[in-house]
This record gives sequence, structure tokens and C-alpha cells, in this order.
Amino acid sequence: MSPIKPSAHLSDVRYEIRGALTRRARDLEAAGHPIIKLNIGNPGRYGFKTPDHLREAIAAHLVDSEAYGHEQGLEEAREAIAAQQAERGARGVEVERIFIGNGVSELIDISLRALLQPGDEVLLPSPDYPLWSAATILNDGKPRYYRCPAERGHLPDPDEIESLITPQTRALVLINPNNPTGAVYPRELLERIVEVAGRHGLLLLSDEIYDEILYDDTPFQPLAAIAGDLPCVSFGGLSKVHRACGYRVGWMSLSGDPRRNAEYRDALQLLAALRLCANVTAQWAVRPALKDKPTIGSLTSPGGRLYEARRAVLDGVAASPYLDVVAPGGALYAFPQVRADAMPHFDDTAFALRLLEEEAVLVVPGTSFNLSASRHLRLTLLPEPAQLAEVFVRIDRVLARMADE
Ligand code: PLP
Repeated sequence: MSPIKPSAHLSDVRYEIRGALTRRARDLEAAGHPIIKLNIGNPGRYGFKTPDHLREAIAAHLVDSEAYGHEQGLEEAREAIAAQQAERGARGVEVERIFIGNGVSELIDISLRALLQPGDEVLLPSPDYPLWSAATILNDGKPRYYRCPAERGHLPDPDEIESLITPQTRALVLINPNNPTGAVYPRELLERIVEVAGRHGLLLLSDEIYDEILYDDTPFQPLAAIAGDLPCVSFGGLSKVHRACGYRVGWMSLSGDPRRNAEYRDALQLLAALRLCANVTAQWAVRPALKDKPTIGSLTSPGGRLYEARRAVLDGVAASPYLDVVAPGGALYAFPQVRADAMPHFDDTAFALRLLEEEAVLVVPGTSFNLSASRHLRLTLLPEPAQLAEVFVRIDRVLARMADE
């Protein structure tokens, strides 16, 4: 009998954050070897709790959650998102231009599906959060990558972005604060990028899921406020800032001159309607999450668990003869690299496999983020600081063995 063949569409689609290395780690665990897993930014797996007032809101509305809801999401949740966007300075955001989905993941797909024709190009950062590339390819688009290298603090160069634009370019994706690099983009840079997008009529897609996870003085700048009348979709959610990955709640808001984005809005609504609605139960947590006092600040300021985890990573890198890193300004990851002067030949994927097999630590190699010839590793800042300090001892042990071979 002939085997069932999967779609050829999938041949260029990858998601290594849960890929072959993760499967190997699961096998090792099943065989009784505990693994320190640093591959997924999933706060609930590292002892972080969703704030009580979010849980209570859901519990109080269980009975109200039994029917399908509005395809764009609960009205009161969308009102809270619209108020947040207006407060941030976004123009033209009303409840009818807000869409709640089963995580930002679902909305990334919908936003591109509503936009792309075969062959259309999307400007994406390299490294990227790989769902953006995957969703572009799955919707018949072509990723074109602008670089965000460590030498530039992982910041993009607006001139380079502009040089990649062709008549097929439709959209420009920004991830700020960035996964995997932790870069937080300064306002002047965003202004220049918006100016490029405006000149070429591109749709701005701004993934801001880490908007309140900030460690130093660079403030988060919502792109919609800078974009003004230009069409811009901003993404946010409960997964990271509110430590509720499992609730699967994200949102996107469409800002700018409504006359320019009306047809696109209708396409988004059609796609939202085709999947009926997002999980209704968890949407009850949105309003309390946005209206009540944010709870993440105590974790990201000195003495807080995430801040101290970041410090443990920076100390571990500083003590290593092999590594360097751009200190993450935000988000839940560090993206250190093995220095070329310390180790001229380095294969990030082979290294990650050795780190797993020899030292029971799971990280994600930089090439998994659509970065060619990477010397980087991504690790999440979610474990206890002491465990992260131990991880760097283990990383250095493997690198020392490689240097001796
Ligand atoms: N965007 C970025 C940059 C992410 O890092 C993630 C998850 O790690 C997502 C989107 C998807 O988040 P969710 O689907 O949980 O809202």
C-alpha cells in the first residue's frame, strides 16, 4: 500500500523549538535522564503562576462560556484592548478592528492569510520567531530577511530593509521586544522603519507579545503610535506578560486610517468567522489582565526572578572563555554566541546535540531562527538563576572538550 504523502507545502516549513532535539530530550527523559530544558518560553513550566485575578475571572464566567462567542472575541475584552491601544497612542483602533485568537500564533497565520497572494514577499527579521517564516510560506508568500546581527546590538538597519523591497513586497514584520535576541528597538529606529514602510505602501505587522517584559532603560515603543495613519497590526497576548501560555489567548489590533484598511479588516473578519471563535472561557481573563495593575514589573526589576536570571546568564557568559552576548533588554531569552576567535570552527546544531547528550541541557541552536551559519544558542531566562549558573558551567565543559579535540 502506498504511504499517505503530506503536503509539499510543508517541505520548507520548520519549527525547531519543538523539533528533533526536543524529541531526543523526551527520549532521554523517558529513559530516566533528567534534562534541563531551556528551549521554550513557557512560564508555567518553571514555577511561574498566572495571577490569581485572571484565574478568578475565568472561574466566575465558566457558565457564560458555553456558547460560541463573537468571531472577533468578547466585546468587553476587545474594549479593554482598544482602551490600551488608545492609551498607547494608536490611531483608529475600535472594537471592530480588534481580533482575539487562540494565542498570537493563530493570529499570525490569519494576518498573513488575509494579505498574501502567491509570490508576495514579506520582510522578516533574521533571526526571527520561526512561526513568522512558516506562516509566510504556508500562505504562499516568500520570506525576505533583513539582518539583526549581534555587532549592531541585534538591531535592524532601515537602509538594508529598504534595499530588500521589490514590487512584490507587501508587509514588514517587526518583533519588539525581540525573540530570540531580547533586543528592544529605540524610537528613532522605529521612526525610520515606519518611514520606509510608508514610502513603499507596506503593511506593518508588529509582534509585541513581550511588550512589558523589560530589563533596562530602553522603554518599549508601541509601533502603532509611531505609524499614525499607516496601516499597522499590533499583536499582544496573555501568554508571556501574564504567564498564561495554556489559556491560548492573543489579540491583534488594526490601526491607521480606517479608509486604507477597511478591505483588509473585512478579510480578517471572514477568516475569523471561518473558525467560529477563539476559546471563549479564557477570554474572560483579558479585561482584568489589562485593567488591573500589571504584575510583571516585580519579576523584571533588580531582585526579581527574571532580572536575576538574566544577571546569572550575563555572569555565566562573562566568566566563559568562549562566549559573548548582547545583554537582552527585554523578552524571555538570551542569545549568546561562541566567539570566532575562541573557536574558529563551530556548528551550532552539532553543539546543541552534544550539550544535550553529554550534559543534559536542551537549548535551541541559532540556525533554528532562520539565521544562516549561526554561532548562537537561544536559552530561556525562566529557570531559577542558580540553575542557569549551572547551565553555563556545563556549556563551558562541552566547549572545552571541543576545543581540545
Ligand atoms: N510571537 C512571539 C515572538 C513568540 O515568542 C510567541 C511564543 O513564544 C508567539 C508569538 C506565540 O505566542 P502565543 O501563541 O502563545 O500567544
